[in-house]
Amino acid sequence: MPDSFGQWARDVRKRLRRVHVTKRDDEPEIPYLPPNYRVPLTAQPSTAPSISATVNSALFTRLPPEARQQILVAAFGGRTLHMNLRLGPPLLPFSERPPIPPSALQYMPHGGISAELEHGQWPEEVLHAARRARVAVPGTKPVWQWWGCECHRNLPPGDERVVIAPWQDRCVRGEAKWCNLYPGDAPGKCLIGCLGWLMTCRQAYNEGINVLYSTNTIFMASRKLIDTLILSVSNSPLGQRVLVPPHRLVLLTKLELVWDWALFIRPEDNEQQTAHRADMVQSLGLLPRAFPNLVTIFISYSDVLYRRPISPDKYLGEIDRELLLPLSEMVSQFSRLDQCVVELPTCTFRPLMSRAQRSGTEVDKGRSWQDTRFWWEPDCNVKEEGAGSTDETPETSRENQPDQKDRLKGRVGFWVKSGVESDLFFDYQGRPGYLSTQGQVLF
Ligand SMILES: [Zn+2]
Ligand SMILES: [Zn+2]
Repeated sequence: MPDSFGQWARDVRKRLRRVHVTKRDDEPEIPYLPPNYRVPLTAQPSTAPSISATVNSALFTRLPPEARQQILVAAFGGRTLHMNLRLGPPLLPFSERPPIPPSALQYMPHGGISAELEHGQWPEEVLHAARRARVAVPGTKPVWQWWGCECHRNLPPGDERVVIAPWQDRCVRGEAKWCNLYPGDAPGKCLIGCLGWLMTCRQAYNEGINVLYSTNTIFMASRKLIDTLILSVSNSPLGQRVLVPPHRLVLLTKLELVWDWALFIRPEDNEQQTAHRADMVQSLGLLPRAFPNLVTIFISYSDVLYRRPISPDKYLGEIDRELLLPLSEMVSQFSRLDQCVVELPTCTFRPLMSRAQRSGTEVDKGRSWQDTRFWWEPDCNVKEEGAGSTDETPETSRENQPDQKDRLKGRVGFWVKSGVESDLFFDYQGRPGYLSTQGQVLF
């Protein structure tokens, strides 16, 4: 969780800017693959690798593929990985970066000084080293850059005494709560570290890339990245360019998204709100095509979701119709999905949770309030409240539904849980305010 309300407010303002900014002509292009990216290394999986590179390798000739798979999973699979695209000052190649002074090394952030560090969070020597790792020539424009790391927000694998939710994840900013409990030194232990193996030979690449994409949970919080990957399966002109090859995306089985959608904004911004809703419905429609083999999906809505001066209590039917119903339609399009969890900002979650308790909807209390969740599906929420148009509510057959809630095949429901602590709150008289301004009424 951010350390202060001020930090919180900066997060919200930054995310709001991201939502409302459309691409300008002077915005740099994202790092699409070149049109001829299908070089031999990235040949289709069906292409039989040449045996010439591995004929003398005991690893490839004596060990069965299952054993190699286990080794690769132990090396760089079975964990959560951050996949991030960000706009910022260009990073210098490692060979051109000045050495990091020892005084900065002792405060090394998760992922190192190339993480998205924020002033006020780090000692000046760390920020100074971070600045010197970037191009400092005046006039240099920001560029879109890839950035990835292992996720260290949770305890090391096997220890689930504490579970930190995706909305609390700040790994890409160099802040990972349990980083110091992982063996080794930062930033080396925080990096994925599979490139050397993948570049060994084609067979190593083919086997390794499958482990990388299919056994890890991929965490994305960059709106630009998420939109680009999803649009790659559309007929949009943007879909003609390739950022990540689609045959890699179909390997993904577990996905966590932190997503910025401003769906409930002030009445005077109605046109913008309508456009955002249409965009989200389109994205949710494309998501099962972009990632058809997902088994679990976790969507965390950021705090820009609800920005109205009236409490969400008054708009529960609209929230069902414009937010939760499109999500259930997305869920119904997956064929392998076992679990879908949606995190909502607390100001939106609380009234929905109260309604779920009043109406007897299934509630899972979890270990704490932050884990509390309720089951949402159209027939037991929208119709019961009388808020949604029955024409828009898909019909579901309870007889065909399995008892186990986490088995979603053929179902259209999902879990809704408490997410990011909202900056927006309403007092006992229903008056709105921002926590970051200590209760000052703003509207
Ligand atoms: Zn770390
Ligand atoms: Zn993380």
